[in-house]
Amino acid sequence: MLMETENHETVETVDCRAPDSDDSDWEKAWDFRAADAENRQTAEDSQPPEEDYIKVKKMPAWARIAIASVVAIVILFAFIWEFGNIGARIDPDAEIPQGSGSPVQDAIDDLDWIIPAYLPVNDYSRPGTKTDEISGIVVHYIGNPGTTASQNRNYFANLAITEEAYASSNFIIGLDGEVLQCVPVDEIAYASNDRNSDTLSIELCHPDDTGEFTDETYASAVRLAAWLCSEYELSGEDILRHFDVSGKECPRYFVQNGDAWETFKADVTSAMDG
Ligand SMILES: [Zn+2]
Repeated sequence: MLMETENHETVETVDCRAPDSDDSDWEKAWDFRAADAENRQTAEDSQPPEEDYIKVKKMPAWARIAIASVVAIVILFAFIWEFGNIGARIDPDAEIPQGSGSPVQDAIDDLDWIIPAYLPVNDYSRPGTKTDEISGIVVHYIGNPGTTASQNRNYFANLAITEEAYASSNFIIGLDGEVLQCVPVDEIAYASNDRNSDTLSIELCHPDDTGEFTDETYASAVRLAAWLCSEYELSGEDILRHFDVSGKECPRYFVQNGDAWETFKADVTSAMDG
């Protein structure tokens, strides 16, 4: 429709109303807008006054400490949870590195009476550290009567997960004379204190608290010690008790029975000669 402006110009305006609308629709629309504005005002009124925000910021010290403590505990538990899962993901029997091809280890690999039972490489029982030149053989007793060579090998392997001690042995000889090798001869085991790096360790199982060995265990210990002495060109005097290294009562029977220890060394020497 045409409208005349204040400046007496004639302009065309467009009536945006729908053809069938009437003024009452516009009134309703205005009512709605008014109500909407009112609602918004009401919503603004319902906001807490500014000083309430200030109160939140000035939370009491004990409340902040409490919240921080809860957060810290949650983080700590999350860490422990994750750490535990990392441990559980280590399979002690998965992809265990074998001996590294040193001449003596190669020779052992050809023997049918030494059973490979290597530990997984880990900080607690098989660090993977190379030995120095081997200058002695250290004999130990397990100290846990009636346990088998396999059980003790698994104990050493599980230290990768339990992390409860640093302990292992190059060899373990069981109650039936079986010989397990846990750590290759060119890697250190954690058995003999400050002689770990230049000696090989042999742990002997025993049936009871006296620490005396079965005939089968004893015979295998003589055989293994003699074989190793021959390989490394050592004598019977290079065979040591853990007691001789650190003063520990190990192996108990050979500490309490010095004659039996001398007999053992003589038996090893005889086996080397034979
Ligand atoms: Zn010992």
